[in-house]
Amino acid sequence: MSTFVHPFREGSKDQKDLLGGKGANLAEMTRLGLPVPPGFTITTDACRYVMHHGQNPPELADQVTAALEDVEQQISRRFGDREDPLLVSVRSGAAISMPGMMETVLNVGLNDETVQGLAAQSGSERFAQDSYRRLLQMYGATVLGIEASMFEEALEAVREERGAADDAGLDAGALEEIVGRYQQIIERETGSPFPQDPREQLRGSISAVFESWNAPRAVIYRNAEHIDHELGTAVNVVAMVFGNLDDRSATGVAFTRDPSTGEHGIYGDFLVGAQGEDVVAGIRNTRSLEELGEVLPDAYQELLRTMDVLEEHYRDLCDIEFTIESGKLWMLQTRVGKRTAAAAFLIATTLVDEGAIDEREALTRVSGAQLTRLMFPRFASGEREVLARGMGASPGAAVGEVVFDSETVIARAQEGHECLLVRRETNPDDLGGMLAAEGVLTSRGGKTSHAAVVARGLGKTCVCGAESLDVDPKAREIRMGGEVVAREGDVLSIDGATGEVFAGRIPVEPSEVAQYLEGDLAADDPRASALVRSVDRLMGVADEVRRMQVRANADTAADAQRARQMGAQGIGLARTEHMFLGERRAQVEKLILAGDPAEREEALAELLPAQREDFAGLLRAMGDLPVTIRLLDPPLHEFLPDLTDLSVRIARAEEAGRRIEPHERKVLAAVERLHEQNPMLGLRGVRLGLTIPGLFGMQVRAILEAELEVRADGGDPHVEIMIPLVGSVRELRSIRHEIDDVTEEVAAGAGAGDGAELTTRIGTMIELPRAALRAGEIAEAAEFFSFGTNDLTQTTWGFSRDDVEAGFFFTYKERGILSDSPFESLDQYGVGELLRIAAERGRATNPNLTLGVCGEHGGDPASIHFFHSLGLDYVSCSPFRVPVARLECGRATLLEEGFTPQP
Ligand code: PEP
Ligand code: MG
Repeated sequence: MSTFVHPFREGSKDQKDLLGGKGANLAEMTRLGLPVPPGFTITTDACRYVMHHGQNPPELADQVTAALEDVEQQISRRFGDREDPLLVSVRSGAAISMPGMMETVLNVGLNDETVQGLAAQSGSERFAQDSYRRLLQMYGATVLGIEASMFEEALEAVREERGAADDAGLDAGALEEIVGRYQQIIERETGSPFPQDPREQLRGSISAVFESWNAPRAVIYRNAEHIDHELGTAVNVVAMVFGNLDDRSATGVAFTRDPSTGEHGIYGDFLVGAQGEDVVAGIRNTRSLEELGEVLPDAYQELLRTMDVLEEHYRDLCDIEFTIESGKLWMLQTRVGKRTAAAAFLIATTLVDEGAIDEREALTRVSGAQLTRLMFPRFASGEREVLARGMGASPGAAVGEVVFDSETVIARAQEGHECLLVRRETNPDDLGGMLAAEGVLTSRGGKTSHAAVVARGLGKTCVCGAESLDVDPKAREIRMGGEVVAREGDVLSIDGATGEVFAGRIPVEPSEVAQYLEGDLAADDPRASALVRSVDRLMGVADEVRRMQVRANADTAADAQRARQMGAQGIGLARTEHMFLGERRAQVEKLILAGDPAEREEALAELLPAQREDFAGLLRAMGDLPVTIRLLDPPLHEFLPDLTDLSVRIARAEEAGRRIEPHERKVLAAVERLHEQNPMLGLRGVRLGLTIPGLFGMQVRAILEAELEVRADGGDPHVEIMIPLVGSVRELRSIRHEIDDVTEEVAAGAGAGDGAELTTRIGTMIELPRAALRAGEIAEAAEFFSFGTNDLTQTTWGFSRDDVEAGFFFTYKERGILSDSPFESLDQYGVGELLRIAAERGRATNPNLTLGVCGEHGGDPASIHFFHSLGLDYVSCSPFRVPVARLECGRATLLEEGFTPQP
């Protein structure tokens, strides 16, 4: 029999996969002796069982009953007891936090009878009725699927009838009235009364939490955050403690450090006389945690002590949810807290300075994704007028048109508009709008509100709680002091670090971290901030520990220069086709149209000096670092006009009676001749070299002459010539004949006799499944392999790399078939298996074979960890991604033990 239920005292923080983050950490806190209400966790295994079988595991019901009895004993109350009922909360908790995405039901166990018991025990009829109406509301919406607004409207109606300004102004009688109305709504909408049996309530709530794993918003969130849809959620059933019991009761959230800067201190919000989600929902404006010291000093001191214990234990920033019931502190949740990218770096190095962790561990605490965020631009400094101020909840500089609802944001973003989602407060259904917006602005809620937490997780700029703004989504305007300051469509700028809101468009400037990484700001420059110093320190650790080198994909001397400043240790891919554009197009056209060998040679001879100059520039920029130059890859028709355009132009000219130039006819004939239905599978790569005599020879000559020229000037270039789209060793051998002939000629011409001065290495790309499978023999003719994972993904999946991401991938993501595009993050099981085979077979033939990656995946963090696990020598990516790759290569080395390929 499987065990699907674990009491808190049995688990630990290392069991997140099974118990979810919340369950694992509640267990950890219980074992640390911290005040956690008794409870138990139903495992993610059970959720997966439900997903696959459409029903609960047969043993679950008995295990829940036994665990509940255990809780009853610990707390000396019985579930369903009329006199003194045990109530429980039923809360979701996945292995990876998905804030606000799934369901929670509080006060389970109340019914028309137990509510009386609760009133008698607590001495407060009002509290008991308030708790009951909350259960009805949550159960109705979550378990029974009734529109939440129906309950809100009923509440509002009673408030109006009773002349109450807010919920606090409702007395016991009013709340009882609301309970009655809620029950009517439930009966009317579902055809059955609210279940009075507490066990039925519990069963329903548990099922609703399981089901919420696949609620649309949760699926969107997982897609955005690249979370596996198979993980499932755990369910935590916890004895209720009440922050709404009396005026010595409160509920709140806290951080052990500032989640924006990492500074030590007291950060958080609380509400007196409130329950559960009230703080996070941002519905009521919260009070800052420091004030709790005045309101409930004993509980506050205990909270501070508990936070110290947690920091010491987790050796990291923790965030906490707590409730105080009649002066007694209870911990309802903790986890290693979400943080901004800047805080992640600052916290990591601060913890090193405090002696809590060493530098290597610090490197594992930050990520390439966070470094990317720090490289985004920010607002330029200068005079400007602040329209309003809120809290800087998630840093960045966002400029966009004001939009008041998520649907409109999504629609406008699709039309290419940059928007800001402006709301009083956000709720989980705003996720789609938050993703599509440049930034999020709310007028209510603190740093722990839904908007703030989700935006930080997404790396989306957010300012929250700009209270002076009166956001009116109905009138579609924002007012201040009664005056309209912005209407929908007007542009605002928000600074997610300072919390400032500006009218109009503020110019943005490069980030300080980007300036540092580009070599324009030294870490020891007095102008450099603590953040730059943190980044510098951890980059240093990464460079020290990493085993893979990082090269850049660069085609021009200027790009190569930039890449070098960013720390590139060579060029892994110079795409020579980019050198054939612009003015040189005419020369390429001449080559294509050449009627006989003499004309072709003439065209090639014209291209030669320009190519030589290109290559010399690249080699000079890279000094003694390796430079891999790839011979021409794309189909030649790319250099000619489009077939349809040209045909239409000529047809129109003929119609108008204009004389068609012979040249035009020649071009049309060439375009027709070269036209292919599937150009990606057509005459490209090595096939071009084999079909067009002299083309690759000319390129090789230009490369070698450039090499000699730079060497003659005292340089020490390391050139690698790379053949694209090879599928068979025979292709490679065949083209190598031409290369070897040219090499001899160039060497002889330079007076170097046997070519001793040329140190050029010849290798191939592995970007076709056949090449990967036949790597053993291909390695006989190659000194290096570079994996072209773009084409390899295209040809392994049979997905067109140019079309699918804008095409049916959307459906694939929605259906949970793919969570990431395999063109963005390597398909480690499929395409990755081909890489593994190629690496093994290639190295078996030639143990000195250099192995690298030059597809887009070379700059993708998850893929980098996989490449590291294969023992590749380097990754190559665009210059801007080089720092991220350096960092991730370092992390991959430190995290290699725990690495397993991702499906
Ligand atoms: C590749 O296919 O991964 C590659 C780097 O080549 P290109 O993107 O130029 O086809
Ligand atoms: Mg390719």
